[in-house]
Amino acid sequence: MISINKSILSVDELLSNAFTLEKNVESLQTRLHCGRIHFVDEKLIIIGTGPAGYTAAIYAARADLKPLVFTGGQIGGQLTTTTEVENFPGFPEGINGPDLMFNMSQQAEKFGARFVYEDVVSIAREECPGMFVVTSSSGAYKAAAVIICTGAAARYLGLDGERELIGHGLTACATCDGSFYRDVPVCVVGGGDSACEEALFLTRFASKVYLLHRRDTLRASAVMQQRVLNHEKIQPIWNTGIAAYRKGENGELCGVQLKDTKTGELSELEVQCVFMAIGHVPNSKLAGNLVDVDPAGFIRCSEGGVKTKTPGLFAAGDVADPVYRQAISAAGMGCRAALEAQHYLTNLS
Ligand SMILES: Cc1cc2nc3c(=O)[nH]c(=O)nc-3n(C[C@H](O)[C@H](O)[C@H](O)COP(=O)(O)OP(=O)(O)OC[C@H]3O[C@@H](n4cnc5c(N)ncnc54)[C@H](O)[C@@H]3O)c2cc1C
Repeated sequence: MISINKSILSVDELLSNAFTLEKNVESLQTRLHCGRIHFVDEKLIIIGTGPAGYTAAIYAARADLKPLVFTGGQIGGQLTTTTEVENFPGFPEGINGPDLMFNMSQQAEKFGARFVYEDVVSIAREECPGMFVVTSSSGAYKAAAVIICTGAAARYLGLDGERELIGHGLTACATCDGSFYRDVPVCVVGGGDSACEEALFLTRFASKVYLLHRRDTLRASAVMQQRVLNHEKIQPIWNTGIAAYRKGENGELCGVQLKDTKTGELSELEVQCVFMAIGHVPNSKLAGNLVDVDPAGFIRCSEGGVKTKTPGLFAAGDVADPVYRQAISAAGMGCRAALEAQHYLTNLS
């Protein structure tokens, strides 16, 4: 509030008062626009706490950027939903997914990363002076740079009991879990290139790979179709979907009930694992039009990189990776994003 208690003011005083008044109105407008605001400006905000987010936090914290990290609802990310992780370097005996993620969080915290246990709703960019406004469920935070590490969720069928079976005979990653299913029958759901790739990969381990597709032709490229259809271990089952999962007494999946998409006829198939390959949904909506996305919603970055189209806004991990989607590749992108953010912030100052 400005109080003017002189009756006559000089031109300089008038101008100075007008300037202060304008700043106050501007600040008030921002407050009204954003609701409850935390007006402490951050150098760097990281969104997400999977391997990409924690790795970015470790690098940024060690560079003294004191990153503020939003955990989102799934603290530790996708790996907290699995048991054994055998392909993350440094653990010859494998490591439990939640343990691996807990270790990463401890490492980030040790170097000074701070955590906000909330979801981010949106990211906007202020025209002047070019800060980002990150709005969460409880307020808005300003930062000079932001790294989006919000991951991607595999699509499942939405059937009863599905959630409990994930990691117990139901998965969306053959690279991650294929080697656990040696000499047993498994099935892949889907008809695109990813489904075919998963099926071919699984032939290294499984005794039989059923490829369930709800149509009578694959959507995959001709070359891929040929490889799949000529493979002695792969048996396509056309016009078929899964109607229900069968669970054994040990709590692991032991089969599926199939439904013919044309006749509605039901049948049973004994398999020890179902590999879902019907796509992923990247959590990229929060960035609005500050980023470009591909048709599936994955954030497009500069060639092989982590820079989005907006300077100062970076993306790492599954949310920007339609191809590899692995913990180690997400961690690698998190590292690169933190180094790029560091470089960007240095050039700003
Ligand atoms: C069951 C299962 C088993 C797997 N096994 C392996 C394996 O053995 N080896 C391997 O390499 N990979 C494995 N993967 C894949 C691996 O988990 C992912 O590639 C990796 O976790 C991706 O890391 P990320 O950091 O990009 O995102 P994620 O791990 O998906 O983490 C995303 C983070 O973003 C947060 N978030 C999302 N939206 C918001 C928001 N709006 N605001 C704030 N935060 C938000 C979430 O809370 C979460 O913390 C497995 C995946 C699954 C599902």
